[in-house]
Amino acid sequence: MLYINGEWITDGNKMDVINPATGKVIDSVTIGGREETKEAITHATEAFKTWKNIPGAKRGRYLATVVKLMREKREILAETITRENGKPFSDARGEVRSAIDYLEWYAEEAKRLYGDTLPASQVDKHLMVLREPIGVSAAITPWNFPLSMITRKIAPALAAGCTVVLKPASQTPLSAIKVFECFHEAGIPKGVVNLVIGPAEEIGKEMTSNPDVRKLTFTGSTAIGKKLMRDAADTVKKVSMELGGHAPFIVFEDADIDEAVTGVLLTKFKNSGQTCISTNRIYVAESIVEEFGKRLAQKTAELRIGNGMEDGVDVGPVINKGAMEKIAAQVEDAVKNNGKILQGGNIHKPEEGSGYFYEPTVIQYATEEMQIATEETFGPVAPIFPFSSEEEVIEKANHKQYGLAAYCYTKDMGCGLRMMKALEYGIVGINDPAPIVIQAPFGGVKESGIGKEGGKYGLEEYMEEKFVSIGMK
Ligand code: NAP
Repeated sequence: MLYINGEWITDGNKMDVINPATGKVIDSVTIGGREETKEAITHATEAFKTWKNIPGAKRGRYLATVVKLMREKREILAETITRENGKPFSDARGEVRSAIDYLEWYAEEAKRLYGDTLPASQVDKHLMVLREPIGVSAAITPWNFPLSMITRKIAPALAAGCTVVLKPASQTPLSAIKVFECFHEAGIPKGVVNLVIGPAEEIGKEMTSNPDVRKLTFTGSTAIGKKLMRDAADTVKKVSMELGGHAPFIVFEDADIDEAVTGVLLTKFKNSGQTCISTNRIYVAESIVEEFGKRLAQKTAELRIGNGMEDGVDVGPVINKGAMEKIAAQVEDAVKNNGKILQGGNIHKPEEGSGYFYEPTVIQYATEEMQIATEETFGPVAPIFPFSSEEEVIEKANHKQYGLAAYCYTKDMGCGLRMMKALEYGIVGINDPAPIVIQAPFGGVKESGIGKEGGKYGLEEYMEEKFVSIGMK
């Protein structure tokens, strides 16, 4: 289904949606292409003229109504996420909470869009900086957080006074439809939010080339992010890019091993490792590396793999066959390069159906030569690399290409502070495996992205400063 100018469009070509836990078709949705995207942009451009002038507090009230509706529908939203993405139902509930939290935060922030008055250099001048919404914003989101990535973009955009055209990932359009049902029910004026589901390349081309789009916000792979930046350059759009990552998780000799193991379980196996801030490389001090590996393997073996709708499941499927095969190839390469599998290491065959599962896996004696040391895995595989000094681990932890999230465990405050400064990442968790909160800036450095989402930083992405100098003679 498409949602353009306040109307649902159900006629047209269809696309199947597949449950990755069963490999079966669960729904079929209407898709659109370049024409529909152009139409949506035209309506968003028209709607912007009014929406930007509505007082922020009123825009916030619309968002607050969406919050209320999403709270009422939270169970069905969570079920939709699990069915199309595969993550365990309890994690899907967590994602719904987080999606609502972003809306609620920006419903409040919409009231607080301040400008500045600057001290003048001459007595007969008055200087001001206005902060204005940038305009029509095109948003492209991934499948790994099919709901919260949408609200993390749309909530600040609407709060700032922008209008939006969204393209969700083709694997997970149902969550997007559900959130747009809430926008519709909340009475958000026509054309302010628009949804186009369909072929990425076609929709992306219109979004990047249409001069009426002033902002492009994207979450996805670095390769596609670079392409979109190149395409958007011709019309000099403001861009925000939340791209890939390759997070190091560093465990120093003095760290509490059990706490660090718990941190790895959370950062590695949540969402089956399909999170841009997932741990990719676990660096453990040589003196504790054997013990750490043993304890991590024991805890990993306790994780229950299966269909996310079943009770007690910790790890669901990966998104599709291609993802499963990529993970298998990386593990095979690690074994070829003398890695030792301590746990898992195989494609998991479910008892029923033919979903796409990979066993939660721990690999000891990982080396920099392995593919897994540099390529994003996006799967439940935990490679452990030994290290012998702080200098060595800093050198290795800083990835040439990526700089999204890094984790470090130590009881030595000095070491923690040195790591905080030395790690070239947008997000650093010191003795904290969950350094993500609404009020903080989320985003990477290097090829992990440009711009931030969350808190006051997320709002700035949808605004521009206008300097006004008034002569008073
Ligand atoms: P992807 O292939 O880049 O897809 C992401 C989105 O881009 C989807 O909506 C996709 O549409 C669309 N897309 C693909 N090709 C496009 C094109 N030529 N023009 C316009 N849009 C296009 O990424 P993915 O494999 O789905 O997602 C995993 C990646 O996202 C990982 O690298 C992960 O690290 C990153 N990620 C980053 C963050 C972050 O905040 N930094 C968060 C989550 C994920 P279709 O689905 O229709 O192909």
